[in-house]
Amino acid sequence: MIQQTPVMRICISCRKTYDRKNLLKITKDYKKGIMFHEGIGRSAYICKSKQCFSDSKIKKKLQKALKTILEPEFIENFEKEITSCNYHPNK
Ligand SMILES: [Zn+2]
Repeated sequence: MIQQTPVMRICISCRKTYDRKNLLKITKDYKKGIMFHEGIGRSAYICKSKQCFSDSKIKKKLQKALKTILEPEFIENFEKEITSCNYHPNK
């Protein structure tokens, strides 16, 4: 019997624990900078609830979690990413 243990991660906004596949992963890749879903480096997770991704402090929280300064373009990309995530709801 193979048991699939979900990998649990904490949303940086609401601090609740979720299965990793239900979270948006944001990584500060050591070479390529900020990436979504991939990359090697410090990562932060955010759940896909409207409350969290429309959090007015989300940029600050991310900057703190990733220990980096986020470019203004980041928020634009972030919003796009969140929108595309929500077009494909998880089963
Ligand atoms: Zn959350």
